[in-house]
Amino acid sequence: MLDLTRQHERVREVVLERVEAVFESQQFILGRTVEDFESAFCAQFGSAHAVGMSSGTDAQLAILMALGIGVGDAVVTTPYSFFATAGCIHRVGAEPLFVDIRGDTLAMDAEKLREFLTTRCRREADGGLRSPSGQRVRAIIPVHLFGACADMDALNAVAAEFDLFVLEDAAQAIGSEYPSKVHGCQQAGTMGTASYFSFFPTKNLGAAGDAGLAVCQSEELATELRRVRNHGMDRQYQHRVVGGNFRLDAVQAAVLHAKLPYVAEWNAARRQNADLYRQGFADLGERIQVPVEPWRESGLAGHHTHHQYVIRAERRDALLGHLTEAGIGHAVYYPQPLHRQECFAHLGYAEESLPEAERASRETVALPIYPELRGDELASVVEAVRDFYLK
Ligand SMILES: *Cc1c(COP(=O)(O)O)cnc(C)c1O
Repeated sequence: MLDLTRQHERVREVVLERVEAVFESQQFILGRTVEDFESAFCAQFGSAHAVGMSSGTDAQLAILMALGIGVGDAVVTTPYSFFATAGCIHRVGAEPLFVDIRGDTLAMDAEKLREFLTTRCRREADGGLRSPSGQRVRAIIPVHLFGACADMDALNAVAAEFDLFVLEDAAQAIGSEYPSKVHGCQQAGTMGTASYFSFFPTKNLGAAGDAGLAVCQSEELATELRRVRNHGMDRQYQHRVVGGNFRLDAVQAAVLHAKLPYVAEWNAARRQNADLYRQGFADLGERIQVPVEPWRESGLAGHHTHHQYVIRAERRDALLGHLTEAGIGHAVYYPQPLHRQECFAHLGYAEESLPEAERASRETVALPIYPELRGDELASVVEAVRDFYLK
C-alpha cells in the first residue's frame, strides 16, 4: 500500500542535514527551526499565518479552543472522514452534528447542509442558531477528502448565510487547489476561518512521527493559536486562558522543511498514477467507479492530490478477499462512518440515517497510489482488479 523507505532514499541527505543542525543548536522546542518552517509553508501554500502543532488532531483542537468553541456549542461536520474530525468537536465539550456526503465526490453536501440548518435547527430571538438538542451551532468543518477540495464556494455561502465559522480539514490536502468562481484559484487551507494540516508519516507530506499545522489569515487568531499551543501562556507563567501542549517539535519542523520542495513533484506523481489507473480500468464499465475529480476541468495543477485513491467497487468485500489473495496492498477508508461509532451512540443517529456515508463505507476500497509506486507494480494492481471482474 505504501513504502516510505523509497521516499527516504531520495531525501535522506537534505533531511539529515537539517536535523543535524537542530542537534547542533540543541534548541528542540519552538524557536527558529519551527518559525522558518512556518514561513516556508505560508510562502508555498498561500496562507498569511501558520502555527506548527504536535499533530493534525492537536491543530484542530487548538483552533476550536482559540475560537472559544466548547460546552453548549455544536459543530457540523461530515460522517465520512478520519475519526479526529468529529473526535475533537466532542473533546472540547461541543456536540458533533453530521450532515451526509455527496454520492459522487464523497465530500460534505452543501444542499444537505442548508436543508439541515434550515429545517432541523432553529433561530433564537438573538439571531443565534440552535441544534435540534438546543446547542449553539458555531461552525462547519468540511473535509478535503482524499485530496480533492470540497465545494467551498457553495459551503462558504451556506456558512455565511447562517453566520458560522468555516474550518477546513486539510489534513489530506496539502497542495490541493480549488477553482473558486468568486476568488479564482484558491489553495486548500486558505478558504475558511482557519484550517489544519496533518503531517502523519503517511500523509502527502509526512514527518518522522506526529506533526501538524494550523493556518489562518487573521493575525489576531494566529496570536491566539500560538497562545493555546503553549498552555495559554502570555508572559512566562502568566495564563489568561487554558491551552495545552500542542507544540511542533523542532526536529519535526526540520524534516518537514527539508521535504517541502518535493511536495509539488510528489503530488504530480500521484496524479499520474491516478491517470494510469483510469486508463487501466476504462473498460470495466459500471463494475467500478474511479475517483471523481470534481475540479479537473479547471486546469489547475492541484485540482486533486490523490492522498488516497479510492474506488467504488461492485461486490466490494469479495474484491478485498481477491486482492488479499493476490498480495495486492489495499485498505478501506472508512469502514464505519462516524455517526455510527459506539462513542457517538448517545447522539442518536440510526442506521441508514446518513445513507450516502454508509453506502460509501460498504462500497469503497483504496488502492496504492504513492509517488514511488513503480509502473510494474501499478500494472499488477490493475491486472488483479481486472482479473476479479473479467475472469
Ligand atoms: C490524518 C487526519 C487527521 C488527523 O491528523 P493527525 O496528524 O493524525 O492527528 C484529521 N483529519 C483527517 C481527514 C485526516 O486524514
